[in-house]
Amino acid sequence: MTSQGTNAPAKPRVVVVGAGAIGLAAAIRLRERGHDVEVWGKDEPADTVSAVAAAIWYPFLAEPRERVLGWAAATFRQLAAFANEPHSGVCMSEVVEELAADAGPPWWAGAASTIEHLRAADVPTPHGAAIRLQVPVCDTRVHFPWLRQRLQALGGRLVRRHLQSLDEAFAAAPVVVHCSGLGAASLCGDRDVHPVRGQVVCVRRPPGLQLPALIDDTEAQPFYVIPRGDQIVLGGTAQANDDNLAVDARDTQSILAGVEARVPALRSAAIEVVKVGLRPCRSQVRLERERRADGGVLVHDYGHGGSGYTLSWGCADEVVALVAAALAETPAG
Ligand SMILES: Cc1cc2nc3c(=O)[nH]c(=O)nc-3n(C[C@H](O)[C@H](O)[C@H](O)COP(=O)(O)OP(=O)(O)OC[C@H]3O[C@@H](n4cnc5c(N)ncnc54)[C@H](O)[C@@H]3O)c2cc1C
Repeated sequence: MTSQGTNAPAKPRVVVVGAGAIGLAAAIRLRERGHDVEVWGKDEPADTVSAVAAAIWYPFLAEPRERVLGWAAATFRQLAAFANEPHSGVCMSEVVEELAADAGPPWWAGAASTIEHLRAADVPTPHGAAIRLQVPVCDTRVHFPWLRQRLQALGGRLVRRHLQSLDEAFAAAPVVVHCSGLGAASLCGDRDVHPVRGQVVCVRRPPGLQLPALIDDTEAQPFYVIPRGDQIVLGGTAQANDDNLAVDARDTQSILAGVEARVPALRSAAIEVVKVGLRPCRSQVRLERERRADGGVLVHDYGHGGSGYTLSWGCADEVVALVAAALAETPAG
């Protein structure tokens, strides 16, 4: 019998605070396990960091590595499965990552598919070495709305609501999953969570142009070219503790200059939009349960830095396990 069966006790109501990639994944997993789920978010979807992301599977600015590896591997599997679903906006794409000349495999290699090592003779890179692999890429224009629809199709509810305190969520439910990203600074006074600004230039894919995604993370500012559907996302910047959400023309120029040097075929690609997002970075992703004096169950899931789409499903699985363990310890009533 499923948890929705008439003889099974109803699982407690859960409020998920945050309707970005992290909150939606957690809410979908909880709903799949039979919880009555409501997601509260203060922003329009388009105004979340999750709507700005290039959204390629790639561990970036997220710690600690030993936990990130497990979350990233689980998320890789889930996104690869979504790539087989029509209308998900996820596809498997070839990516070439440039490496320093004598670098070994990246630390996250164990979480990915088979990696092919390339030499300078095989691929012209400024650094002399590169790897090639297949990874999931989410076209956020399609995938982010699809996630919201998936939650609603499962019976989860989305509510626009701006919280001043997590107590407001506990007034509505005994279980709260906290996925507010940078909102954690005010909602739970977290001084560790901080913005790392990212700007991207989205261009129209020139007709017929096929190219792999390209990533170079060897410099202070990352460089990337991420094709997705009829668009190509060009980046980027990683400016720590910069919370300026305005487009910076110098960043745009620097991104376009890098692209012009490395991918001349994109030199005259038409710019569709330039976007800025603030990555919710933290010394470590916070994924843990906090015991409340009133018996409520609070599970934090935030601080995913530049890896929200890369870690979301692995983290969601852990959220569900933490909620289940906490409820098993709580007397019914
Ligand atoms: C330029 C750029 C490129 C990126 N590229 C990639 C990439 O290629 N791959 C990848 O994996 N990641 C990438 N990222 C990182 C990724 O976007 C983030 O890690 C991810 O979006 C974080 O998701 P989140 O749900 O935690 O936060 P958000 O998307 O910020 O969502 C937070 C939610 O909490 C809500 N909230 C906040 N405060 C409150 C409050 N007080 N009351 C109610 N609701 C509240 C907000 O309204 C929102 O719904 C990129 C980021 C940027 C900026």
